[in-house]
Amino acid sequence: MQYPHRLNSDGSVDSICPTCIATVATAFSEADLRRAEEAHTCESWRIAYYDRRSNVAFRLPPAPSHQLAWQQG
Ligand SMILES: [Zn+2]
Repeated sequence: MQYPHRLNSDGSVDSICPTCIATVATAFSEADLRRAEEAHTCESWRIAYYDRRSNVAFRLPPAPSHQLAWQQG
């Protein structure tokens, strides 16, 4: 799996899990990040949390202009 890396202002690098959006590790060397990435196991509660958030967008009601057009028939 590919873990995006984010450079911090202090020169360290965060490794972010793309599945559960957890910060897998913060380290100053790529070898340390790689080791943490290999040891990482996704936290299921985080996955559930982000799934729920992304589903909310699909349940939003239609835009007000659509409702207006429907009522005017
Ligand atoms: Zn993960």
